Amino acid sequence: MRPKKSLSQNFLIDEKILNLIVDSGNIKSDDIILEIGPGTGNLTEKIIKKNPSKLIVIEKDKELSKRLKDKFDENLIVINDDILNCFNKFRFDRPIKVFGNLPYNISTKILTSFIKIDNLSKFFFQFLFVFQKEVADRIVANYNTKQYGRLSILSSWKMNTHKLFDISPKCFFPKPKVWSSLVLFDPKDKIEIINKSENLERITNIFFNQKRKMIKKPMKQLFDNYIDISNQLGIDLKLRPQNLTVKKYIEICRCYEDLS
Ligand code: SAH
Repeated sequence: MRPKKSLSQNFLIDEKILNLIVDSGNIKSDDIILEIGPGTGNLTEKIIKKNPSKLIVIEKDKELSKRLKDKFDENLIVINDDILNCFNKFRFDRPIKVFGNLPYNISTKILTSFIKIDNLSKFFFQFLFVFQKEVADRIVANYNTKQYGRLSILSSWKMNTHKLFDISPKCFFPKPKVWSSLVLFDPKDKIEIINKSENLERITNIFFNQKRKMIKKPMKQLFDNYIDISNQLGIDLKLRPQNLTVKKYIEICRCYEDLS
């Protein structure tokens, strides 16, 4: 079978890396596990060997889904669907672990869709995702760095993030053009409450669409009385978007919600 570019099919084939990913998940016998985009089942096979209580995989490719069903039969629940249609499905009686060497064309969309789920830590114990290295670096970035932005803010609002290791293009078939990285996410039990995650998304979009400009501009765009609000929040309007902490963005979001 030829890998499909349209589905971002780059299969992991390196045994050492596959083992490292699965070991990072510290799988126990009572774990419920979800794998996104299992493809040919290389990672799936390693997960099954750890004997979790339940393993569900979601694969958009029909042919691959059928092959997975034939290959692993009763050990595996295969859902042949688009992950982007499935975010309201994963509500089990205990938090689950999610694995995925994600399709890179929609990897950030998948991540932000998970982040937007309410009571995240009630339903998800951890996420272990492979991203392009450049995306992984943006997710785990701290403020005052070049990589810090929308993805870092949304991720660390709800989760602790750790980049575990980088993965060479050589570990995949077909070889992608760029390096990849494994990122571990632990959902936080206590998060800063805002009314709607979409508001934080919108605000970070507005700020980081002009990331080299002073934040006076986005503040003005968001608030009529932006000078008062900046004083109230202790924000220096000459700073750049990357100089504000996640906490500050939450405060800006709350102000925005109070006023709208
Ligand atoms: N996890 C496998 C394959 C990774 S490639 C491995 O490491 O070898 C990405 C996989 O995601 C492919 O199997 C592709 O068919 C699947 N995929 C792409 N878009 C998807 C979508 N929207 N929903 C679910 N699976 C998708």
